[in-house]
Amino acid sequence: MSDIDLIVERLEMRGHRITGSRRRVLDAVLAQSSHFTVDDVLRSTRNVGRATVFRTMKLLLDLNIVCRVLLDDGTLHYRLSTRGHHHHLVCRDCGRVEDFTRCDVSALVRELSRATDYEIESHWLEVYGRCHACRLLKKEPVTVD
Ligand SMILES: [Zn+2]
Ligand SMILES: [Zn+2]
Ligand SMILES: [Zn+2]
Repeated sequence: MSDIDLIVERLEMRGHRITGSRRRVLDAVLAQSSHFTVDDVLRSTRNVGRATVFRTMKLLLDLNIVCRVLLDDGTLHYRLSTRGHHHHLVCRDCGRVEDFTRCDVSALVRELSRATDYEIESHWLEVYGRCHACRLLKKEPVTVD
């Protein structure tokens, strides 16, 4: 089974009918590289209405098929999601994004909820830095005389 068939199956299992337009949005999402904007999806689904693209992205987000990544420049991107709760490690030089699943925020959130009496539903944490490859590039060449 291809990725798209698996996703369509997941959507249909939850009662979402996959129309031709939605499938085209899915196709476009799966064809994107590491992360992408809604505009990227819009560009590659020319005959699909803007509202359909936005609604489908929202649906994919609600079902954790995609997740959002806030890049260092403030733009919001999407990315195919790994299963379950996770955060992103973002390279500010090349834009590479990696997932990490270890979440130390949970204890803080519990404490915050106790202290403020908020019912806390979610949190968002992105970690920014420079990836291994970019760090190697940055290193000044060593001159030996
Ligand atoms: Zn993610
Ligand atoms: Zn990098
Ligand atoms: Zn977390």
